Amino acid sequence: MDYKTALTGYRLTHDDVVNMRIAGHIRDETGMTMCDHCYTGIKNIVLVSGGGKSGQIGSTCAEKLGFDKYQLRKKLTHDEMEKRKKATEDYRKKAKAEFDREQSLIDAQLERRMESPVGDIVRRLESITVNSDAYREARDKEMFLENDFMYSLAIQLRRRPLSNKQAEWVSKFVAGGQTQRRNKGNAEEYDRIWDVCISDEFFGISYSFLNSIKSK
Ligand SMILES: [Zn+2]
Repeated sequence: MDYKTALTGYRLTHDDVVNMRIAGHIRDETGMTMCDHCYTGIKNIVLVSGGGKSGQIGSTCAEKLGFDKYQLRKKLTHDEMEKRKKATEDYRKKAKAEFDREQSLIDAQLERRMESPVGDIVRRLESITVNSDAYREARDKEMFLENDFMYSLAIQLRRRPLSNKQAEWVSKFVAGGQTQRRNKGNAEEYDRIWDVCISDEFFGISYSFLNSIKSK
């Protein structure tokens, strides 16, 4: 079909194009093609069809009539646009599935960590925190926990081994009693807690673990 002379003989209105789709894009340098909506010469021609009608409109009019701006700018047909949407959706679903898979491996790893000797220490730290007078008297409990040093150690210990210095604090809090000191009576427990806190034997979220689940 020669689009330069293919006058449809009627004016395409908004109502006409509501059910129309973009079937193609053509460039006519001469500007002799006439837009079926505004009847002026156009160079960027959008071929539209649907509802038993077809026509050619300028890209500016196409935009005004409600066709998708992105689709017009990228010169995509309806089918190409649908294909692109589907590809995006497929990619999104795949990424979501991958994220869920990784998350469940992380959850399993953390669960195993909490079943190890680490779990008991975490729970004791949490218990000391929430049984403290400071916590009981705090008006905003959430805010209190966010800023509490002991509780932040518990959160970190849940996920991964602590530094030597952090482990020392945990020993003080959990085994040190009132004085928070290591003595003859608590030395064994004090040292055991320290060892557990710094050990990487008890699973947890390490870089090597994260890398291992991402490469699968
Ligand atoms: Zn027009």
